[in-house]
Amino acid sequence: MRAIRRFTVRTVLPTELAALGELVHNLRWSWHPETTDLFSEVDPAVWERVGHDPVALLGAVDPARLRQLAGDRRFLRRLADAADDLREYMTAPRWYQTLNEAADAIAYFSPEYGIAAALPQYSGGLGILAGDHLKAASDLGVPILAVGLLYRHGYFTQSLSPEGWQLEHYPSLDPGGLPLSLLKDEEGTAVHIRIGLPDHRALHAQVWVAQVGRVPLLLLDSDVADNDAAARDVTDRLYGGGTDHRLMQELLLGVGGVRAIRAYCQITGHPEPEVFHTNEGHAGFLGLERIRELTESRLTFDEALEAVRAGTVFTTHTPVPAGIDRFPSDMIERQFGGDNAWPTVPVERILALGAEQEPGRFNMAIMGMRLAQRVNGVSELHGEVSREMFKELWPGFDLHEVPIGSITNGVHAPTWVGREIMELAGRELPSLIDKAQGWEGVQKISDSDIWSIRGHLRERLVEAARVRLRRSWRDRGASDAELTWVDDALDPDVLTIGFARRVPSYKRLTLMLRDPVRLRELLLDPDKPVQILIAGKAHPADEGGKKLIQQIVRFADEEDVRHRIVFLPDYDMALGQLLVQGCDVWLNNPLRPLEASGTSGMKSALNGGLNLSIRDGWWDEWYDGTNGWAIPTADGVADPDRRDELEAAALYDLIEHEVSDRFYDRAPDGLPRRWLEMVRHTLTSLGPKVLAGRMLRDYVVDLYTPAAASARALSGDSFAPAKAFAAWRLRVAKAWPGVRVEHVESSGVGDTPEVGAALDLRATIALGELEPSDLLVQAAYGKVGPHDELLNPSYLTMTLEGANDDGKAHYAGKVPLDSTGAFGYTVRAVPCQPLMAAPAELGLIALPEEPVGMTNGTLR
Ligand SMILES: *Cc1c(COP(=O)(O)O)cnc(C)c1O
Repeated sequence: MRAIRRFTVRTVLPTELAALGELVHNLRWSWHPETTDLFSEVDPAVWERVGHDPVALLGAVDPARLRQLAGDRRFLRRLADAADDLREYMTAPRWYQTLNEAADAIAYFSPEYGIAAALPQYSGGLGILAGDHLKAASDLGVPILAVGLLYRHGYFTQSLSPEGWQLEHYPSLDPGGLPLSLLKDEEGTAVHIRIGLPDHRALHAQVWVAQVGRVPLLLLDSDVADNDAAARDVTDRLYGGGTDHRLMQELLLGVGGVRAIRAYCQITGHPEPEVFHTNEGHAGFLGLERIRELTESRLTFDEALEAVRAGTVFTTHTPVPAGIDRFPSDMIERQFGGDNAWPTVPVERILALGAEQEPGRFNMAIMGMRLAQRVNGVSELHGEVSREMFKELWPGFDLHEVPIGSITNGVHAPTWVGREIMELAGRELPSLIDKAQGWEGVQKISDSDIWSIRGHLRERLVEAARVRLRRSWRDRGASDAELTWVDDALDPDVLTIGFARRVPSYKRLTLMLRDPVRLRELLLDPDKPVQILIAGKAHPADEGGKKLIQQIVRFADEEDVRHRIVFLPDYDMALGQLLVQGCDVWLNNPLRPLEASGTSGMKSALNGGLNLSIRDGWWDEWYDGTNGWAIPTADGVADPDRRDELEAAALYDLIEHEVSDRFYDRAPDGLPRRWLEMVRHTLTSLGPKVLAGRMLRDYVVDLYTPAAASARALSGDSFAPAKAFAAWRLRVAKAWPGVRVEHVESSGVGDTPEVGAALDLRATIALGELEPSDLLVQAAYGKVGPHDELLNPSYLTMTLEGANDDGKAHYAGKVPLDSTGAFGYTVRAVPCQPLMAAPAELGLIALPEEPVGMTNGTLR
């Protein structure tokens, strides 16, 4: 029989143990081993049985045991210490509190969060990154207020059929059994969010609060009695359902999320966010809701748009065009038009924000960029690819000026680094832990210390993998008698390669299978064997991905290799931690440049693992020739099959001739010196870069603080500057067709220009209806390529010499000839206003109709 409803009855803790409740309900335990040690002590057997889930622990532990602990002086002392430590963590000033003019609060929106395995509200990299972002923010005291959805069935858990086909199970999560509390107002009534839908329907939600260290995370949940059945299911699954379902989820996240924030701030006195950070397009409707708020009180649509844009940061996470979030325009029209329209936010304006080249499509990423003054990708290479992908939004500007920057992802060390390593670092290099400084100190740690910890982590992985392997085979129908081989599967002394990630086709899960004979030889090499651990989930609707998993599983099922290559089902944070800690080598072979950043290799590096990867995402930026291995890419090869073949061959060669040689090259004392040298170099070169703390500081300094300054500048004085800016922008956009670079002349260098000389440049600009103060006239100059294109130009602001009554203005400047060879220049005019963040921002530019400049030293 199945229950028709389930819920969790919470334990009442004896008053002496009240602090235990506090510790359980702050997810800081998930990266604080001292706290989980204490949980384990409550009842070690139960703690193991519930899979290290403290809420489940309190639900399962025998009340008699709790009464016993309530009288245990030693336990109570430790509990008091842990509670004190948490209170101090929550309140002491940290890095952020040393800054001036930083934002009072920052709202962070993401459709998924990977905080802990016990809160399965993530599917992959985006969610894990969001979780690490919140944890690092908490550690640094960055006042983030996060928003997401609570999925009643989370993301699926994965198992395999006897044939190796992925099976999906959706856990049924009861919020009462999770470390969450319901947001209630002063009278104790649950806060209720309502969003109007077409046909007089509405979507209702309640709000759960998870406490991630210092960061509150608000999770909207549509499973409430006011909803009809369809609306109740809006938050049923992460990335399940069709387009309509996705629109409902995104409405709830964006529009509902802002409403939840308003309620939370009002009830708790939390400062209102000055900056709104939206991750990927999914949360983009938050900008519309904020425009609605401002237009209902005092501003026009255009004025509100400027005020909102100033305080919005948009991060794009995918370089795969198919990964961009889009809706049919008529769905948006139905949602935001007709009888459900917001009176002050015309639906035509909304449609225009998401319009793309293909008619009838509403593009959430493009709307995100139009609603955010600051936009970034997640690695340098991804920034570059994004500028190319979205350049049409800023026509006339060169790629390097497309205002999309980049902040490379990072990972939260206390979450991902093996405890033994954290403790060694704490002992030998305390400044690493306190201040994330002093990575050179890694040189002082002895080879034998590093090697013994690496061996220990590898052994733990092998043991855990055997347990999982046995479970998986049993789920697939094998009996224990058939599984005796599992006891000897894998080997704690063999070179261990890990490959774990979601399974979209660009990640090429099966590249290693390209030449099965070669792979077999590597695995079974009598002197230098290799073992490979693989994990990953395919999206439930991705049949192609499931086929790839099946291919891997079938290979790994073969009797001669099954002790050296294993597929471990159900890749989640817990399995991820084991793998990144225990593997010697972390393999990544995406199709360049489709991996925006990737983070699992960073986790491996922090644990002393070595990366073996295609130069994509973060690895393109930080591979230095000796901190791991770069698999050569066959980027230029058009035939994908041929490309795979070339890259796979390169991969086998690297493993055979570089990786395993180094690993098995042992000194008389048994230590692989050359390997350890590389581990040390990995830690010192990558350690400081890959930390989520570095990422957070970059976000704060480069994006959040400037965005807060812009938002303040526009909202001060009852939004007078926003009104002025909007009026200026409309006037400039209207008059811009009248702006022309009419005439450019140069003198001062004679027939044979020499480096070091300067060119006197004069330009006449037709201003049309504009004033000189509305624009900036610049000379762009530098080396030119074969088609006269300026390669990486410098800019020089030209000075106004005078203006005529006929609307023409004269400008002059001295261009230094600072490089030899082919040199060129041109002159351009762009709008200029102190509140703009980048010259390309409004997408307006005037260039000479005829190209000007000179090449090879010849003026033309
Ligand atoms: C780190 C992590 C990811 C993201 O890894 P990528 O390198 O970006 O593929 C995905 N899932 C889990 C469980 C992780 O721990």
